[in-house]
Amino acid sequence: MSTAAAAEARPRSFRGGVHPDDNKRATDALAIERMPFVDEYVMPLSQHIGAPAKAVVMVGERVVRGMPIAEPGAFISTSLHSPVTGRVKAIELRLHPNGKMMPAIVIETDAYDSQRLPAAEPVDVAALCADEMVALVQQSGLVGLGGAAFPSHVKFKVPDDRCVQAVVVNGCECEPFLTCDHRLMLEQPQGVVRGTKLIMSQVGCERGYIGVELNKRDAIAALRAAAPPEIEIVPLQVKYPQGAEKLLIDAIFKREVPAGGLPLDIEMLVNSVGTTLALSDWLDRGVPLIERVVTVTGPGVAHPRNLLVPLGTPLSAVLEHCGGLVPGAHQVVLGGPMMGMAQKSLGVPVLKGTSGILCLDRTAAAPVREYACIRCGRCAEACPMFLNPTRLAQLARFEHVEELEANSLLNCFECAACSFVCPSHIPLVQWMRVGKGMLRTWKASS
Ligand code: SF4
Ligand code: SF4
Repeated sequence: MSTAAAAEARPRSFRGGVHPDDNKRATDALAIERMPFVDEYVMPLSQHIGAPAKAVVMVGERVVRGMPIAEPGAFISTSLHSPVTGRVKAIELRLHPNGKMMPAIVIETDAYDSQRLPAAEPVDVAALCADEMVALVQQSGLVGLGGAAFPSHVKFKVPDDRCVQAVVVNGCECEPFLTCDHRLMLEQPQGVVRGTKLIMSQVGCERGYIGVELNKRDAIAALRAAAPPEIEIVPLQVKYPQGAEKLLIDAIFKREVPAGGLPLDIEMLVNSVGTTLALSDWLDRGVPLIERVVTVTGPGVAHPRNLLVPLGTPLSAVLEHCGGLVPGAHQVVLGGPMMGMAQKSLGVPVLKGTSGILCLDRTAAAPVREYACIRCGRCAEACPMFLNPTRLAQLARFEHVEELEANSLLNCFECAACSFVCPSHIPLVQWMRVGKGMLRTWKASS
């Protein structure tokens, strides 16, 4: 048996986790299509973790596709670029997918412009020092495209007393329904490999690993054909939440990231497939982060698709391009069904972290009756962070805030595996969020 066949026969994984139906069949064979330009784009200044960006354009100003429209507000912050050529119509409060009104730059599209990006020379990466490279990545507006939207340049700033032994690319896409990373790996494997090599050279690391779940065998084959020997393609068991970076490291290397720590604490760096590809687009072609691939899917949309969507496009326009919502559509979620966020308005825009637009019908989104805990222990078995979700939920319910911290609530990353398996339908992950809110308030006041 070859090494590759042996790896697939015994795919690596982590302890715990759950096996929801992956529901990817509606879109996993659909090639990525470009979403046509629409009349108006809304670019919230907060599309990433950290300080909001600061607008550098004024109302009425003409903007060109790819031109900076906001600069980083701090080191943990990043730039924004115009997704279209047009005119700044307003800088005002607009509804954000997080449910709040937040400052945004509204751009009216120039219907007569070709929307062609200006040509750019590839960057000579070898001629840049580490700090120059970090600054350049910050200028690109790049963030983690897996959903977290953490500014990428912060990850690339490796402190002098640290080194990186392994660059890991996350191609798991373990959330049910989503297929955008799958399509990117299949359609642009050279770009993913190129981005991986760029990160490896940036942080001075000689080994790269791309972890892909075994329900994407065609992507594994495409990446293996494109990758040099120093980049290993690692098949992983299909299990949720395999794509959480600590669990990805556990699965590939059997090493544990310390509680409250980062992969860099054990000399590793993890980026998503989309981020890796976007980095190569920026350094080789000068294309900043102005668009991303979004999976539009679920029983509530007429024509599911994988679409390359300019940032700032309203959800209503994306759904209209996909034939609209079908009768009986009940809920629209940004992201996947496990960690995604339900939306109250279709006027909100696609952001840097929007991996999917999931349209559910009444069956999938129906409220369920909650019963008392029967002490079955399934939630603890499913929790990949070795927590006791039922105990944490009780502590949150009875507001025992100090004990929440003592029981490691902050190690919960809200994957919802516990809620998924609970036969009593107790909304455990919601209690984790409530508990974290209490803990924040308590810490701020003490
Ligand atoms: S949501 Fe938190 S407590 Fe529940 S399984 Fe995930 S990490 Fe564990
Ligand atoms: S899975 Fe639900 S019913 Fe079972 S122990 Fe956990 S909270 Fe209780």
